[in-house]
Amino acid sequence: MSTKKGFTTTILHSDRLLKPEFGALHQPVHHGVTWGFDDVQDLVNVFQNKAKGYAYSRQGNPTVTALEHQVTQMEQGMATVAFSTGMATITAIFVALIKSSDHVIASSYLFGNTRSIMQTLIDMGLQISFVDATSVDHVKAAYKSNTKMVFVETIANPATQIADLEAIGSFCEAHNLIYAVDNTMTSPYLFRPITVKASLVINSLTKYIGGHGAALGGSVTDTGLFNWKDFNNIAPILREQIKPQMLGITQIRKRGLRDGGGTLSPEAAQAIAIGSETLALRMERACSNAWTLAHFLEDHPAISQVYYPGLESHPQHQLAKSWFKHFGALMSFSFKEGIDTLKCLNELKLVIKSSNLGDTRTLAIPVAQTIFFELGAERRAEMGISESMVRLSVGVEDIEDLIQDFRTALDK
Ligand SMILES: *Cc1c(COP(=O)(O)O)cnc(C)c1O
Repeated sequence: MSTKKGFTTTILHSDRLLKPEFGALHQPVHHGVTWGFDDVQDLVNVFQNKAKGYAYSRQGNPTVTALEHQVTQMEQGMATVAFSTGMATITAIFVALIKSSDHVIASSYLFGNTRSIMQTLIDMGLQISFVDATSVDHVKAAYKSNTKMVFVETIANPATQIADLEAIGSFCEAHNLIYAVDNTMTSPYLFRPITVKASLVINSLTKYIGGHGAALGGSVTDTGLFNWKDFNNIAPILREQIKPQMLGITQIRKRGLRDGGGTLSPEAAQAIAIGSETLALRMERACSNAWTLAHFLEDHPAISQVYYPGLESHPQHQLAKSWFKHFGALMSFSFKEGIDTLKCLNELKLVIKSSNLGDTRTLAIPVAQTIFFELGAERRAEMGISESMVRLSVGVEDIEDLIQDFRTALDK
């Protein structure tokens, strides 16, 4: 069904494929921590990966499974593991698959907390090279014999740089490197990283997939493209039990989720699963709003620069056009000198001053004073983040109301 039907139809009918009790339309919330077995052999078989089933909710729960199944279909991947947050997902991937003698190449344009956890891993002995991932040449230059993984985001936040997704995918394929792509900013509705040969696709379910800003969650999807059989960090015991293509995702479930414990609650899983049913509808509206608003802001005399892949002035505009269904719903802009950023933001009455993104409501945040404050002025300048930069996560409000809110605030 997943390959034949459209995006939304597939998600809407996803739970019923797993046949919930009484013909329920949604997989119910299973609160139980543990499951009981009449025959102890059945319990043993679950433990030894010989039978499907649930033993203890930290590493699997039917409500969470239903969401994982949905994400797998959205990404057209092979299998998914969900976590309590996007950050728990990213941490688990490193813990499960990478050793301290390994080298990882990561984009220098990363979500702030992703960059921060990577710094912690460097402090623990891992080698990570940060490169400008808008060109594969920088990835190639950083490659070493012990490189195991390349980690990029599709569209980076806040300045919307786009990674050289396709060329990096070919490079990873040629060198047997895990290609981990954080698809949060595009979501599987705008872009499927499997099309550029990603091995692992990360989504913060907190953002567009959940959409309502009411539940945290994260996921990693194995696209089925990576050759885990020849990957030497797979635990020998798993090789005996698991078929080769499932080795990577199983090790993430065991070492990352079961041992790390960043488990998604069943309540949050259901809230996200229901939110995801309208992902396509919300993205259509939010991307259209963002496109209109970006053009309005670009023409406004109070604004010096707008960063949005949908503008012709964006350095990767053509690539974004060829890869993504739409240009996304996130943008940043800088005020002209002499304008008080915080004062101007306070003039916005409809737009909420908030740090989230991917919400149904439009959210604005001054970047230098908040999410990139800890970096200090020097690193911000290096990263091209001006002191007056504002990040805007555009929601699904009526566009006339959004334009009106900005017009009133900016004209003051
Ligand atoms: C928000 C975000 C994360 C982290 O997700 P949480 O669910 O907040 O932990 C990771 N990557 C990107 C690109 C994000 O925007």
